[in-house]
Amino acid sequence: MTDNADKTDRTSAERLDQLRDSLDAVQARIADACAAAGRDLSEVWLLAVTKTFPATDVAALIDLGLRDFAENKDQEAAGKAAEVARLRPDADVRWHMVGRLQRNKARTVVRWADEVQSVDSIRLADALGRAVANRIQAGERTGPLDVQVQVSMDADPARGGCSIEDLPDLVNHIDQMSELSLTGLMTVAPIGADQDATFARLERLFQQVQRDYPGVVELSAGMSGDLERAVAHGSTCVRVGTALLGGRELASRE
Ligand SMILES: *Cc1c(COP(=O)(O)O)cnc(C)c1O
Repeated sequence: MTDNADKTDRTSAERLDQLRDSLDAVQARIADACAAAGRDLSEVWLLAVTKTFPATDVAALIDLGLRDFAENKDQEAAGKAAEVARLRPDADVRWHMVGRLQRNKARTVVRWADEVQSVDSIRLADALGRAVANRIQAGERTGPLDVQVQVSMDADPARGGCSIEDLPDLVNHIDQMSELSLTGLMTVAPIGADQDATFARLERLFQQVQRDYPGVVELSAGMSGDLERAVAHGSTCVRVGTALLGGRELASRE
């Protein structure tokens, strides 16, 4: 073994240890949050947000037992998903899009994403529906695309999301589409807001939507800094980046 290869080996072993420790810590936080809320641990799953981190980190997390990964940029994700498929060809990986999505990216996003959590307009839903229909017609996929509606709890356009006011129309529209399968609601809690009140309001909204659309079973809420509060208010999916993988460059922080 050359010195360089040896060094690479040692670095990746260190990184694996690091990721194992942070994964243990995050899973313990989720378990504690479930216990505190009187919820079963099986009700909450961990979505690892791997944006800005390399495919080798995803491969390490696969080796540690994760299978769900999220990205927020189409181009970065497409390349990473392909690389992960080369690194771990037998892994049963699911990729989730959680970032703002322009309609002209719909065609490429449906090539790598198993789910899009950031659908926030009828126009985007229609674009994704057309992209899925084209792929079905081309014999490149069989089923609908899982989607969630991103809700904006404060109507701040910066983080994306559909306003609470527009939510019923968007949910109803997606429900009528055969190319999309609506599985849940997603939110990015406003920074600095009263998070407890925000998550409580989101939980009520989720329950209302569920009453009319029983297929809406996922509530994707909670990140590194606020997952406990989100779990206390019914989150079924916590999206964790920093607490798992470490800090990101400021430019990529969204
Ligand atoms: C980056 C990102 C996360 C993860 O945030 P952390 O604070 O690093 O855990 C979750 N959701 C979305 C939509 C993101 O863009």
